[in-house]
Amino acid sequence: MSATLETDEHKALRSAVAALGRRYGRDYITRTVAEGRHPVELWAEAGKLGYLGVNLPEAYGGGGGGISELAIVLEELGAAGCPLLMLVVSPAICGTVIARFGTEEQKRAWLPGLADGTRTMAFGITEPDAGSNSHRITTTARRDGADWLLTGRKVFISGVDIADAVLIVGRTEDARTGRLKPCLFIVPPDADGFQRRPIDMELTAAEKQFELVLDDVRLPAGALVGDEDAGLLQLFAGLNPERIMTAAFAIGMGRHALGRAVEYARERTVWKAPIGAHQAIAHPLAQAHIELELARLMTQKAAHLYDAGDDMGAGEAANMAKYAAAEACVKAVDQAVHTLGGNGLTREFGLASLITAARVARIAPVSREMILNYVSHQSLGLPKSY
Ligand SMILES: Cc1cc2nc3c(=O)[nH]c(=O)nc-3n(C[C@H](O)[C@H](O)[C@H](O)COP(=O)(O)OP(=O)(O)OC[C@H]3O[C@@H](n4cnc5c(N)ncnc54)[C@H](O)[C@@H]3O)c2cc1C
Repeated sequence: MSATLETDEHKALRSAVAALGRRYGRDYITRTVAEGRHPVELWAEAGKLGYLGVNLPEAYGGGGGGISELAIVLEELGAAGCPLLMLVVSPAICGTVIARFGTEEQKRAWLPGLADGTRTMAFGITEPDAGSNSHRITTTARRDGADWLLTGRKVFISGVDIADAVLIVGRTEDARTGRLKPCLFIVPPDADGFQRRPIDMELTAAEKQFELVLDDVRLPAGALVGDEDAGLLQLFAGLNPERIMTAAFAIGMGRHALGRAVEYARERTVWKAPIGAHQAIAHPLAQAHIELELARLMTQKAAHLYDAGDDMGAGEAANMAKYAAAEACVKAVDQAVHTLGGNGLTREFGLASLITAARVARIAPVSREMILNYVSHQSLGLPKSY
């Protein structure tokens, strides 16, 4: 797949990351999953090479680039069969929020480690009783002297087992109005009152999901990220990169599946010509290629707007990119599995597990329907049913 609308630096980054990804490859991820561990070797090497923190400020050990560059890193690793899901969370959401809104102390404490991969941060917003309706979250922080006490529950939080902290979205009470407003806290997973339980997922992935229970977790004043009154703004600053990165994750996975299917369709011959000569096989693969390219174009637009500081414009584009990429990925994986016939369902060819994995991008971090709702209301001005 050729790169489009990219600078020479972007193209060079793409090919360097692709080369790293190829050195590890799908088999490496399959092995780490079987061993029940995180792909630490790839994570560490990508960190050393500056890829994990490519979006973070140079003053704190990052590459000084933006989400455009970090999305390239994730897409290329994914295309090589070894996506790093924690890239969506650690440098993209947590790194961005801390770089943009954190105190000087938080920036110094966290950004160099997030940039070189020696520290990892998870992100927790989803709650069992709120789900897609994040206005309904009830994890609440109340003041106790100079400290905060944080109480609540979270579900599906990725990578808590390997995280040095979780950036938790909670609420504090507005002293004037009594209304609850969102706030972000850096919470160490070994804090008293912090419990985690792995969720038994039907996913072949190195990253695990957890349910969290926070029971009066005591946090120092310095655990609150940035400004108590600007929580929503700070939250949105992290959510656009999350959507753009999920799009890159999906495009990478789609490309990986498509690549394997094309390779197979060129060789596999059961009549006179290879199966790839039959249009019933070739056309859906061509369609998948087109749809992945289109999704990447929207992802590039969203990343460009975000990196240029247009948070509002980036919001619509990031949602559209996530939607388009997830749909393109689900279709590409489905067609890839079908192209391999029976082999599509064998472990040896490694595509069947992607059927489940591809669905993640359709559900998280915001579902297909919630994006269609957003576009119906925000872009088209249609009324709301909920
Ligand atoms: C692998 C994985 C990793 C995750 N990692 C994280 C993480 O690290 N941190 C984190 O905070 N969260 C994480 N999540 C959670 C994810 O963001 C949520 O699953 C997602 O936001 C959807 O919420 P829900 O599962 O509660 O679904 P629900 O909100 O219960 O939705 C269920 C279905 O109803 C539909 N629906 C709901 N409301 C409407 C409506 N108004 N109109 C039309 N349809 C509607 C949805 O589209 C969906 O199809 C992860 C999830 C997965 C699967």
